[in-house]
Amino acid sequence: MPQTRRKKKTKTVTSAKTRKRAKKQPKFKTEAKSKPTEETPPKIEEKEAKPTEQPIIEKPQETEAPPQIVVKMETPPPTPQPILPPPMPTPSPPIPTVEKKEMPQKTVLKITPESARFKYEVKKIPGAERLMLCFQCGTCTADCPVARFNEEYRPRKILRMTQLGIKDQVLKSDSIWLCAACYTCVDRCPQGVEISSVLRALRHLAVKEGYMPPLFKELGTAILQTGYAFKIPELRIKKRGDIGLPPLPKGNTEDIAKLFNATGFSKLLETSKRS
Ligand code: SF4
Ligand code: SF4
Repeated sequence: MPQTRRKKKTKTVTSAKTRKRAKKQPKFKTEAKSKPTEETPPKIEEKEAKPTEQPIIEKPQETEAPPQIVVKMETPPPTPQPILPPPMPTPSPPIPTVEKKEMPQKTVLKITPESARFKYEVKKIPGAERLMLCFQCGTCTADCPVARFNEEYRPRKILRMTQLGIKDQVLKSDSIWLCAACYTCVDRCPQGVEISSVLRALRHLAVKEGYMPPLFKELGTAILQTGYAFKIPELRIKKRGDIGLPPLPKGNTEDIAKLFNATGFSKLLETSKRS
């Protein structure tokens, strides 16, 4: 037992000695011991860039919207409509009575050998050769100055009747005598028909057949007797002398008579059927 105690004492002595030694011995830095063989580069401390502080701008406070005033309009109650009596039916205007026009009687054309020859008879006369080329476009009638003032005068119609051989109706008509020979239609005809010359040929045939109008008979007779188309009254001849005008030259009736006899016109004047 005492041995164990001794041992214990030694132990405690050593420990005290070591403590003193430890206190006396200079302390070495642990860093030297832990120094690596290679020198580590010095650490560069990276400073983190602090964000610049932004100035805090205070937001303007939202102004409150003014309170809306809702005005409620009260709809007035519907006024009662007076019940009107139904409108009286207006009497319809009287329907004008349309007079029935009598339709013109249809003309039946009878083709006889004579009527069939008529167009060839006309075509033989100089100027009327292109009669059958007319295709009834109506340009001649539209441009004719006489047709403008006379509803009966239609050159296109006369040409068609001639083509169809309605001989008597054409030759007895007054229309063939109305042409003023202005040649407007001739200039405008797309077919080159000499309408004025066709009408002259028809007049020639009408006189031959004895259908000379009374007025033209009077004119022919006056030329044969006096040399003038119109007989000059005696009173007018006397007046000319009173105011100092020279007397009118006398017509050469002898020569005119010879001409009329030679052409057969004197005979035509005598045999004219129309009065
Ligand atoms: S203009 Fe010539 S083609 Fe036309 S209707 Fe007169 S004549 Fe005939
Ligand atoms: S020539 Fe005779 S048909 Fe021809 S436009 Fe003149 S008036 Fe009319």
